[in-house]
Amino acid sequence: MTGEGFGKYRSVFTARSTSDKIRDVAQDGGAVTALLCYALENGEIDGAVLTKRASRNWHAGQVVATTREEILDCAGSVYELSPSVFQLKDAVRENALENVAYVGLPCQAVAVRKMQLYPFGGRHVGDKIRYLIGIFCSENFPHEGTRGIVEGYGGMPLEMMNRLHLGGGKFIIEADNETGEVPIKKAARYAQDGDHVCPDLTAEYADISVGSIGSEPGWNTIFVRTRRGEKLLGGAQADGVLEVKDISTVKPGLGLLQKLALAKKKMAKETIDKRKQLGLFVTRDMYY
Ligand SMILES: Cc1cc2nc3c(=O)[nH]c(=O)nc-3n(C[C@H](O)[C@H](O)[C@H](O)COP(=O)(O)OP(=O)(O)OC[C@H]3O[C@@H](n4cnc5c(N)ncnc54)[C@H](O)[C@@H]3O)c2cc1C
Ligand code: SF4
Repeated sequence: MTGEGFGKYRSVFTARSTSDKIRDVAQDGGAVTALLCYALENGEIDGAVLTKRASRNWHAGQVVATTREEILDCAGSVYELSPSVFQLKDAVRENALENVAYVGLPCQAVAVRKMQLYPFGGRHVGDKIRYLIGIFCSENFPHEGTRGIVEGYGGMPLEMMNRLHLGGGKFIIEADNETGEVPIKKAARYAQDGDHVCPDLTAEYADISVGSIGSEPGWNTIFVRTRRGEKLLGGAQADGVLEVKDISTVKPGLGLLQKLALAKKKMAKETIDKRKQLGLFVTRDMYY
């Protein structure tokens, strides 16, 4: 299927982990963590390259996780660019892993696919990647941008925050005893400059793409894009680690996601055209 705005995919669902332990620590429905644990425990992978909150003030750390505990330790979203593609080399060369899962943003999924096609500097790494799991991304922030959103707009010290997540057009900041809200439009001024030329919301080059937009709170929207992805999701569902439903049965559903995905592509095209008119360098015009 080719849903306009979503890239190619084989099927799309709403799903969540059946484990309370995973859902308690996960960003949304815990589908990413559940898929990784399933793949590890069934011998499909021997490790995964992941990102985790590495300090109280929310710096992103890059991890080669080889146990269920280490995968759970990486659950949750860190709103900062995490240069984790490099860790794939460590996973293969230092940790000697044969079958690796990689979790990354749409731009990182593109980088990994390019590395698999043209492995300059990364020979014998790309062919060890068993699953490429992409997470949706509208925008990301430099570290001080996240601080500006949470402390400047949210009025809460960054170190006190337990979770930052999207819901109803807002960033919701959660701490132990309080929550704050920042409209996405306000937060957008802190987005990384490069995000404005990025056309991909739903990680179109992944085996499986996972986000929250389109599903109910506490659930994930999942695009299965490749045969490998289909096998992984089917296995996890059959094993009972994922509860999976038809996305057309829930609200807000794919309509909202499509609107946002198309808006991201439109903004990227307009920014690229503007930069070209100004004679500025653009890297991402291959999409148009
Ligand atoms: C910067 C950013 C922007 C996002 N924007 C959107 C959006 O606009 N709409 C939407 O629906 N979803 C967005 N997401 C995805 C969403 O936050 C969840 O990651 C997704 O719904 C999966 O939820 P889960 O409960 O299955 O994840 P979990 O089971 O909690 O697993 C999360 C996984 O994400 C990885 N991760 C965390 N931070 C990063 C990072 N900075 N870079 C790479 N990997 C990371 C972890 O390693 C972990 O394996 C964004 C995520 C990030 C990090
Ligand atoms: S908006 Fe695009 S370029 Fe920016 S972090 Fe997200 S996927 Fe990467």
